[in-house]
Amino acid sequence: MLALGCHTTVVRDLRTLPKAHLHLHLTGSARLATVRELADKYGISLPSALVNEEVDWDKGGRDWSHFQCRYDAARQTIQSAEDVRRIIREAAEDDAAECSEWLELQVDPRSYARHLGGVDQTVEAMVDACQDAARTAEIGIGLLLAVSWDAPPEQAEQIAQLAARYTHRGVVGFGISNDERLGEPDTFVSASHIARDAGLLVAPHTGFYTDHFHVRRCVELLGARRIGHGITAAGDLRTLETLARSQVTMEICPTSYLPLGVLASLTQVPITVFQQAGVAVALGADDPLIFGTRLIGQYEILRDVHGLTDRALADLASQSVRASTAPAEVTKRLLADIDTWIR
Ligand SMILES: [Zn+2]
Repeated sequence: MLALGCHTTVVRDLRTLPKAHLHLHLTGSARLATVRELADKYGISLPSALVNEEVDWDKGGRDWSHFQCRYDAARQTIQSAEDVRRIIREAAEDDAAECSEWLELQVDPRSYARHLGGVDQTVEAMVDACQDAARTAEIGIGLLLAVSWDAPPEQAEQIAQLAARYTHRGVVGFGISNDERLGEPDTFVSASHIARDAGLLVAPHTGFYTDHFHVRRCVELLGARRIGHGITAAGDLRTLETLARSQVTMEICPTSYLPLGVLASLTQVPITVFQQAGVAVALGADDPLIFGTRLIGQYEILRDVHGLTDRALADLASQSVRASTAPAEVTKRLLADIDTWIR
């Protein structure tokens, strides 16, 4: 499936590159049209950034509070198991259309529990929805249950225990999300133990606003095998060595950093630094509802802005597959298909 560019350059179609998508939040995965429709249904007024056709960050401020305000408003539109089912089915369809063949969705079940009848019922609805969506969209789906960085240890342990109870129904990991400046890794040691003992992946968000030390402690204290973002780690040699030695994969979402003032330019997304240090990277879309770009767009940025070759892009896709929790037979098949794409 090749498209010939000018002269002898061969530019392969990224929509046919098999890949795994490891960093996508439930509400953030939603289609804008769906959120608007649900908002109408429930009589919820959305912030202007979610009502206008263009997501214009310059009008909304470039900081976390503006992001959180938009995210919270969108999340309020998810009020029933049927809404959950629709959001997850559409996320699976959109990912499958981009040749993402293994999707891991992250969700803090406490954020949805009020409308869905409690935390346990929320997780029930979500694992059911993931199983149904996987069938209809013909894509593998894993669910990560997350707590907020401001959660107390007992609450983190409860979510880790809940995740451990659902390993046989598609829960694959334990995440820590929200603004990482709100918490310290020490708080989550016990919860991470519970998760790892159950065979779950520990994948906290860190190194977005916090420094490399916060990232390193997530690896050393929590046994994190994947890091959400972690871009500040790129500036510290010792942390890079720790990440490489521990075979940690960074979930990098290029379109998330400019809107929140973390980086000034897409050229600053530190993909090359990680790759040269031997640290694996998996590209993710994070919250396409808010940032306006799905998974394929992240690969396009690395091609168009960073000048990555098809070989380097295929390597990134392979890294996403290797860092996923997909069953071994799925991983093997996807790696072979990526090899076919590049050949
Ligand atoms: Zn995220």
